[in-house]
Amino acid sequence: MLKAETLAIGTELVSGQSLDTNSQWLARELGAIGIPVLFHQTVCDQLEENVSALRIAAGRAGLVVLTGGLGPTQDDLTRDALAAYAGVPLREDPASLEAIRAMFARRNRPMADRNRVQALFPEGAEPLPNRVGTAPGIWMEHGTATFACLPGIPSEMRVMFHEQVLPRLRARGLGTRSIVYRKINTFGRGESDVEAMAPDLIARDRVPEVGITAHEATISFRIRGEGETPEEAFAQTEPTAAIIRERFGDLILGEGSDDLPEAVFAELRRTGATLASAESCTGGLVAQMITSMAGVSPYFLGGVISYANSAKTSLLGVPAELLATHGAVSPEVAEAMAAGARVRFGADIAVSTTGVAGPAGGTPEKPVGLVYLGLSTADGTWSKRLDIGPEQPRDIIQRRAAKNALNWIRLTLRGRPPG
Ligand code: AMP
Ligand code: MG
Repeated sequence: MLKAETLAIGTELVSGQSLDTNSQWLARELGAIGIPVLFHQTVCDQLEENVSALRIAAGRAGLVVLTGGLGPTQDDLTRDALAAYAGVPLREDPASLEAIRAMFARRNRPMADRNRVQALFPEGAEPLPNRVGTAPGIWMEHGTATFACLPGIPSEMRVMFHEQVLPRLRARGLGTRSIVYRKINTFGRGESDVEAMAPDLIARDRVPEVGITAHEATISFRIRGEGETPEEAFAQTEPTAAIIRERFGDLILGEGSDDLPEAVFAELRRTGATLASAESCTGGLVAQMITSMAGVSPYFLGGVISYANSAKTSLLGVPAELLATHGAVSPEVAEAMAAGARVRFGADIAVSTTGVAGPAGGTPEKPVGLVYLGLSTADGTWSKRLDIGPEQPRDIIQRRAAKNALNWIRLTLRGRPPG
């Protein structure tokens, strides 16, 4: 099977001043047509380093897609590097020179002498016309590897990939497969727990391949399907998706970009329940996540950010004695906040957060990362303790607490007993 490698050229990339986004884009595009990218290389604007990067890439990939270094300036060395690597001279291509001249004429600008180098190609290479910029690309087959050199400017690179690279791959019978990736998102168990529940799915060489990734405590399965057509590729993933849905049940939030806000919104719509929030340590994040959903206004009645103790009392009716006896970060106060919000907003369900977001304010009994959630419905009021961890930064503690609050709402609406 043809394996590909991307080679991004630019000192600004390796030095960390800007990010190589071309390789990410190219790897996705190539992956989607069945050509896996196994390596990304990034290299500075130096001839010797470029030649050595080409040698490394050609040693392990059949297709090397280069970006950058095709401009007219001294540090644009891709064409020189390719010629040096292949041991061939550079030759001027009259048609490319004409195209560059014409491009300048159309823009009513004089062509600098330097631009002439953009019409130079390693002997045996094929120019790739660039209709959106001055720098033509280069297509060259040498030894066991094919090199496609594209401009560094992302918009030009994308057009050239579609218009010049893809047809050449297809003409060689390459890149004719369809690959789809499906992402099924879960919440409520850690990555290793999820993995332990799915040893059969994540086994190496399984078809279709399944991987697990984590983002802010949302754990996702990624299923890769392959086929002649996108429909066939999707069909290949379906039995595996069904196993995951069956096995992970209530842990599943949804597919693709569906995370907790989308899942809560879906349950609100399904049940018609109304919701309110009372937040301390999350500072409104719960309400923000819910209101990020367009169309949620019939269900979300409102929220209170009761940060100070006095606000917990005046806005939610949390008794001052309760705060004095147990402290603001306590199951008792979390429950009183949730119950207060539910009654005051007249909601079917209310959720609350109170905790130590840090970095200061932790004590041995109440360390940073300790959060209590409260939940109140017509059937009762409950609290739940989260230990997010004293080593976690403030924003992670807040986001984790808010997502857990949303998850508790979601599961309650799905009929799980809250207690
Ligand atoms: P070059 O073709 O090397 O002259 O690159 C032209 C411009 O394209 C650079 O100044 C960058 O802004 C951008 N560029 C080059 N390579 C990349 C890359 N790998 N990812 C994103 N942008 C790039
Ligand atoms: Mg450059």
